[in-house]
Amino acid sequence: MSDSKPISLDQFRKRKEKEAAEQYYFGKMVWLHCPKCETLEYTEIISPNGRMHKCGTLIEEKEVELDLRAEITITEYNLTIIEGLLKKNSGFKLVKIISKTLDRALIALKASETAYRERLLLAAGMIVPPYPDEIESLKDKLPIKDTNQLGLIISEFRFEPERRFSKFKSPTNK
Ligand SMILES: [Zn+2]
Repeated sequence: MSDSKPISLDQFRKRKEKEAAEQYYFGKMVWLHCPKCETLEYTEIISPNGRMHKCGTLIEEKEVELDLRAEITITEYNLTIIEGLLKKNSGFKLVKIISKTLDRALIALKASETAYRERLLLAAGMIVPPYPDEIESLKDKLPIKDTNQLGLIISEFRFEPERRFSKFKSPTNK
């Protein structure tokens, strides 16, 4: 007679759920540097044969492998913080000019996070859910490089991209 244990569907489902909750989504993003214009931008589009900048100069490229899900988790967290600040800021009616300037800055940050999120999803080619846990308990798992004054997390990928290019000159050193 077989001595194999009966399959517990409940255990199986729990294991699958746990695996799904922890699953990595490896992908690549690329930093692009135009040595002539000194511009830096990122893309999800890999181009093995290189590409030209709009000025006609060959672009320097640095491919970076990352956990897209970790980046998305960070971006979603940042968006939540920005939303909170926008809401809070709309309550400050007394200092209108400061409030307006801050509003514009927050809206720009929101646009930049949203654009990054879109690029990550394009790199993944599918919907990637953020890790289900609270950010505090994920801190060892996420590539957190820095946190700015507003409390936004800067991931390894987006931290000082100019350091990836030896020839990069900051606009102030020109
Ligand atoms: Zn250029």
